[in-house]
Amino acid sequence: MKRMTTAAGLALLGLAVSACATQATGELSSRAPPSTSDPASAASYAPIDPERLSQLTRAFAADELQGRAPGTEGERRTIEWLSGQFAALGLEPGGENGGWTQRVPLIRTQVQSPASFSVRSHGETLTLQSPSDIYVSTVRAAERARIEAAPMVFVGYGVSAPERQWDDFKDADLTGKVAVFLVNDPDFEAQPGDPVAGRFGGQAMTYYGRWAYKFEEAARRGAIAALVVHETEAAGYGWNTVEAPAGENYNVVLPPDARQPVLLQGWIQWDAAADLLRRAGQDLAAVKRQARTAAFRPIDLGATLSADLPVTVEAVESHNVIARLPGASRPDETIVYGVHWDAYGIGPADARGDRIRNGAHDDALGTAAMLEVARAFREGPPPERSIVFAAWTAEERGLLGSEYYARNPLYPLETTVANITLDTLQSAGPARDVILIGEGQSEMEDWLARMAASQGRRVTPDSHPERGLFYRADHFSLAKRGVPVLLLMALGGGADLVQGGREAGDAWVTRFTADCYHQPCDDWSADWDLRGAAQDGSLAYRIGRELAFTDVWPGWREASEFRAVRERSAERRR
Ligand SMILES: [Zn+2]
Repeated sequence: MKRMTTAAGLALLGLAVSACATQATGELSSRAPPSTSDPASAASYAPIDPERLSQLTRAFAADELQGRAPGTEGERRTIEWLSGQFAALGLEPGGENGGWTQRVPLIRTQVQSPASFSVRSHGETLTLQSPSDIYVSTVRAAERARIEAAPMVFVGYGVSAPERQWDDFKDADLTGKVAVFLVNDPDFEAQPGDPVAGRFGGQAMTYYGRWAYKFEEAARRGAIAALVVHETEAAGYGWNTVEAPAGENYNVVLPPDARQPVLLQGWIQWDAAADLLRRAGQDLAAVKRQARTAAFRPIDLGATLSADLPVTVEAVESHNVIARLPGASRPDETIVYGVHWDAYGIGPADARGDRIRNGAHDDALGTAAMLEVARAFREGPPPERSIVFAAWTAEERGLLGSEYYARNPLYPLETTVANITLDTLQSAGPARDVILIGEGQSEMEDWLARMAASQGRRVTPDSHPERGLFYRADHFSLAKRGVPVLLLMALGGGADLVQGGREAGDAWVTRFTADCYHQPCDDWSADWDLRGAAQDGSLAYRIGRELAFTDVWPGWREASEFRAVRERSAERRR
């Protein structure tokens, strides 16, 4: 990339673009955004203004907001700024008690030392070293996590998927036990011709492959702990990523009558797990092959785990920030836009001495795009359905703000038409395509394709479905409860950029991920070309606008793991 030339060119373009988009917005006040076949034209991103996106992002990623960590002074300033923006746009407060916020009570837990882990297996006592053999944390509000001689059971992939005629648990009772899982889903390593091939989306990861699912399934079955056997390729990351949180974890505060999570959750190294199986007369590689068949049955390891860990638990009071534009004729039907306002706050200094992790792309830019979508709605005719604009907290702590909302929705989920989430948009310029994350999940991808075509863009499926990005942003909290979703995110593979093509798009993703993702260098820059992010904002607007003026309810595809839960409330949408 010729950096100087590009930056100079963009500065000029920025001015031209801005003038043109302002004009376009005026004309657009009563009609749909223009259709174009040219993704490099202003019509492709109308009515979103890249210059305004830049200024909003600059303000929201400023050092004054201290990296927007939940429960800090940075949060107070964030709420003030966001609610001020919402109010200036003429939106209604969409939070609790007529205000802009929904209170989100969280806990932060930190495992302290000394932590001890021992396994009693066939007459011998083995010590597991933390964090080299085993890494655990807790999301329960317990000052001490203690397990005494809990039986260990190997549950294979630990999948219970009636819609795929698959049940790894059979009649095994996990109450009070330690469940040991394989990572990913049963067909991840299937060979062609293998009966399991394609049953769980092939290389693409389903929800059943995620550790989050496995921990939840273990809790549903009354297990006291859940351990996933680590394999770098199947997990998608190394042990260094597993142990990086250093015993820290977060959760929403659960009501006393809610199902409690497992007491300890985490990972065990392949070699340590293989040793336990060997002592039980089994070979881990061989039982893994068995686990790729529907006939698999849980294996009692003939071993018990004892663990004792001091834990500190801290209450963190945080908030979602929510605005609403009431629907003119069907206000009870809601389209929810979502972004996350939080970033990583203040941390260790980087090479430049910068300590503030401003989260400029992730997700100040998405937030700016959502504000521009809100502006576009306000400047157009009033939508028939209501539009909710939600800035969730604590996404980076485990999708917790959106999870709290999904557990305590302010607008019923049964009549929430769809959720459109903007999380981490790119700054590398206009694109000829948009990356679809979660291909085959819902009819939202048809709306995406139609509206992308109106921008002169086409849809390209995520190039790394095995990483399971679809399960790793806030839209997922709503998907789990059946709301059809769409995630616009720049990390699912490089876009086909108007300047430089796929190669340039991939290079942007690689550079951003390696250097800046969650680091102080994710900072606002005047050199950004936000026409691509504006295209994505415009796309989000176009889809939401279409949905807001129809009575259509987009549905899940037949094969989706989320179809069944939506179907249960079908009556509410007739
Ligand atoms: Zn994000």
